[in-house]
Amino acid sequence: MSDAVLETRGLSKAFGALKATDEVSLDLRPGEIHALIGPNGAGKSTLIAQVSGALRPDRGSVRLEGRDVTARSVEARARAGLARTFQISALAMEDSVFENAALGALGASGRPWRFLRPVARDAALRDRAMAALERVGLQDAADTPVSALSHGQRRQLEVAVALTLQPRAFVMDEPMAGLGADGSRRMTGFLDGLRDEAPILLVEHDMDAVFALADRVSVLVSGRVIATGTVAEIRRDPAVQAAYLGD
Ligand code: ADP
Ligand code: MG
Repeated sequence: MSDAVLETRGLSKAFGALKATDEVSLDLRPGEIHALIGPNGAGKSTLIAQVSGALRPDRGSVRLEGRDVTARSVEARARAGLARTFQISALAMEDSVFENAALGALGASGRPWRFLRPVARDAALRDRAMAALERVGLQDAADTPVSALSHGQRRQLEVAVALTLQPRAFVMDEPMAGLGADGSRRMTGFLDGLRDEAPILLVEHDMDAVFALADRVSVLVSGRVIATGTVAEIRRDPAVQAAYLGD
């Protein structure tokens, strides 16, 4: 049996004649950051959507801690411990930083959203939300509306929301997107420490971040994984150089 926390086997999705993902099999092992790189249109976001449950695959399976979750919804996977952050911000802009984190904690509890107000009074969920905010350094901004945060702070909050799920695995689509050099450095340092909490499947364009963080890298080209290995192995792989890094 595999000791992978998260594994995909043969995940495939076509849009008409276009094979967006084509037989993708990946393992996310305990404690690792596994980066998924590839050119624009390679199928990275499509794969993440299939892993998180937003998109049904045509074929293939997703297992979380050995359990087949392929037929489960996004919410059911989140409750099972799969935390996803989004490429495009999915935060409630008019609500406070704390309320957004509390929503994440509530989602993890499996109770419906309309119980948000009571959550603010539920000590356990409150503590869980505040602990996540402290973890990303947003505790002093708890009462600030999300609309007043900088882009970098919003990205930190997205990770905090994911953290409130007390996840078994993280799936992140371009957490450095739109961050300046300082923001990227801060997020890189933060993700570096996060892998001890739960392994991270990380889609990222920022190669400095990928090379700094990744224990392993998989390279996706035209929907297919053409190589998986350490950063050093990937950098000297002739197929990767020809298809991707060389351009
Ligand atoms: P990446 O994230 O690696 O840039 P995507 O997964 O977004 O790539 O896209 C992979 C391919 O699938 C692209 O050619 C894209 O145009 C296509 N695609 C993605 N989503 C859809 C969709 N909903 N309908 C049709 N084509 C899609
Ligand atoms: Mg994408």
